Amino acid sequence: MIAISDVSRAFKGTTVLDHLSLDIPAGQKVALLGPSGSGKTTILRILMTLETIDSGQILIEGVPMYDTASGTPHLLPENRLRPVRSRIGMVFQHFGLFPHLSVLDNIAFPQIFNGRARKADAKARAHDLLKTVGLGDKAYLLPDQLSGGQKQRVAIARALALQPDILLFDEPTSALDPQRVSEVLDIFNMIADTTGTTMLLVTHEMEFARRFADRILFFDHGQIVEDGPPEIVFTNPKDARTRAFLGLPS
Ligand code: ATP
Repeated sequence: MIAISDVSRAFKGTTVLDHLSLDIPAGQKVALLGPSGSGKTTILRILMTLETIDSGQILIEGVPMYDTASGTPHLLPENRLRPVRSRIGMVFQHFGLFPHLSVLDNIAFPQIFNGRARKADAKARAHDLLKTVGLGDKAYLLPDQLSGGQKQRVAIARALALQPDILLFDEPTSALDPQRVSEVLDIFNMIADTTGTTMLLVTHEMEFARRFADRILFFDHGQIVEDGPPEIVFTNPKDARTRAFLGLPS
């Protein structure tokens, strides 16, 4: 369970998250939609501790990310954050693969670096995951020798190698051509079905969100203005901003 309570964040005086509260139960598949600049990516970055909050609190499986004793939230020290961090993985928009490492080592290295596995075990798991994402024959290529869709799948395999409970994706389909989008969708659904991982993704692709998510959150100016299953949000949203964004009559 991710519990975000009353979180605000401003950059240079501009409010990006505005008293945001949100609970995401384990295993849910959530798509974050909304206009550019509405704060979607900021939420993912905060969950990854790449960004901090100005007020509020976040609990991951009941464990707080911030010390709020002084009133202002301070990210907990590294040793106390580690259990939280180890539960969360993120696949970045531009994949973030190490260009000088083979596909296999890209997946094995984080496991070794994080002390999760010894080299042989990490490589064995990397081989298995590459098969899972349909790239069993690409282990010894460099990332630059792969297509965009294949790089995306390596990035997914790398995140899965650390066995996170929660996986975050920032615009996972933006670098892919349309036929690759279906492949990514299949992999996401396979991950959800076989591992029960909570999945949170930011996307601008409505069709992808509709086919992937069991919950849609629509952001506007750092607030959630719509929260519901895709069959409701895409056909009969209650908020005027959502209707306008989706091109529905007001
Ligand atoms: P998009 O759909 O375009 O990716 P988004 O909804 O994901 O947009 P965010 O990336 O969360 O939006 O950004 C929200 C606002 O906060 C933007 O105006 C952005 O410029 C600003 N912002 C985000 N991070 C920082 C930062 N580290 N420093 C200053 N401004 C920032």
